[in-house]
Amino acid sequence: MPPEALAKARLEKALARLEAELADLEARLEEERKRLSALSPLPVYWRKVRCGKDACTRCPHGPYPYLKVKKEGKWRWAYLGKGWQPPEGFTRPREFLEGLARYRALLKRKEELLERVAEAEKALRPR
Ligand SMILES: [Zn+2]
Repeated sequence: MPPEALAKARLEKALARLEAELADLEARLEEERKRLSALSPLPVYWRKVRCGKDACTRCPHGPYPYLKVKKEGKWRWAYLGKGWQPPEGFTRPREFLEGLARYRALLKRKEELLERVAEAEKALRPR
């Protein structure tokens, strides 16, 4: 096999591995979302959010868990994360936050994988 074809075959193999890992991650993320939703006495809304940074290539991020809460007569989103006060009925807030930390780590891994997939695809594109 000529060296170029060999390099291409290697890249394709690497890409297939990355895609398999991504599919596996997606399944684990879905599982964590279900587990986290089940810990909440109120409906959890999973929302994708923009970070607001210029030239962010990973936007939107998430999805992250939110509650819909009424504040001063208006419905607002309340993020179930850092600095969060568990609303009434949340019996296991610590378990929720631990699960959320796991979930966020998986999301981070997913963003890294997506970047590597994009790089591999770019390298495979004919010049
Ligand atoms: Zn972003």
